[in-house]
Amino acid sequence: MPTLRSLYCSAAFLLSAILLFGFNAVGQQAQVSSNSPSPVHPTAEQDHRIALTFDDLPVHGPLPQGLTREDIANSIIHALKSADAPPIYGFVNATWLKSDPSTAQVLQLWRNAGFPLGNHTFSHMDPNTNSLEAFEKNILDDEPTLKKFMDGQDWHWLRFPYLHEGETPEKHHAIMDFLKLHNYRVAQITLSFGDYNYNEPYARCLAKNDQPAIEQLKQSYLDGANEQLTDGPKLANLIYGRDIKHIMLLHIGGFETVMLPKLLELLRQRGWNLITLPDATSDPVYASDPELPTYGGTFLQQVMNARHITPPPPTGGSKLNLDAICR
Ligand SMILES: [Zn+2]
Repeated sequence: MPTLRSLYCSAAFLLSAILLFGFNAVGQQAQVSSNSPSPVHPTAEQDHRIALTFDDLPVHGPLPQGLTREDIANSIIHALKSADAPPIYGFVNATWLKSDPSTAQVLQLWRNAGFPLGNHTFSHMDPNTNSLEAFEKNILDDEPTLKKFMDGQDWHWLRFPYLHEGETPEKHHAIMDFLKLHNYRVAQITLSFGDYNYNEPYARCLAKNDQPAIEQLKQSYLDGANEQLTDGPKLANLIYGRDIKHIMLLHIGGFETVMLPKLLELLRQRGWNLITLPDATSDPVYASDPELPTYGGTFLQQVMNARHITPPPPTGGSKLNLDAICR
């Protein structure tokens, strides 16, 4: 039986593959070597705006050897602060605080940095495979932790686990009614390169001290990020005739301690400015809720599905086999 996470990864990977490979020819021109500390992008791009978001606080993926959960949080916070990032939302599964109270320290570090927290459900529950009532309860069960750590500030943002928003229109609209009643806004995403897929391979490769393989992981991560930064604005233009304010899905995983500074440098090089999630979501495109037979995937993917827009055909290209590396 595949696990929920593996199902998510499969589904998310397929979506990512459509987005990643769609404009691969351009993306490949934009590749940045992980060996180069100052990647130079060949095309001058103007004024893209992006909100970074981090899911699965306080625990995501395996711990690479030598690191604690606090180390990962501190590293991510330090990288964001060094890049003058605005307040960055972290989406919480409070179940971890019940099973291991020490993980609360990750939330405290996030708050000490001035970064806000949002709801990712108590136990990372999939709304598509659980009842409406169970899903709503799981949202509510996350709230005491958010209230405690946000200390009077607003935390009414939901990031759907697995990016699933209900497997039928009826369930989706019931969830959206519930969220509206409880004053939530949905933290959509437009950009994901499957950063969550790198944490297990990284932990394996680090345990084997396989440095060439780790270099491959770094390059693959940057290739994926580069393609998304190329494809996102192109898809937005295809749908809306203009670029939009983007939102990127990231996770609080071990490989970000290595890659987040490189990702932030890539964003800077390519002319992407960091904005807050509320600012990004103020783009009027997010006010629409596309009518779909089933809800999931990135916001742009959903809108393309609703409007029957065919994404550009995949152009392929060799990708690292993350499941096989360092076995
Ligand atoms: Zn998650």
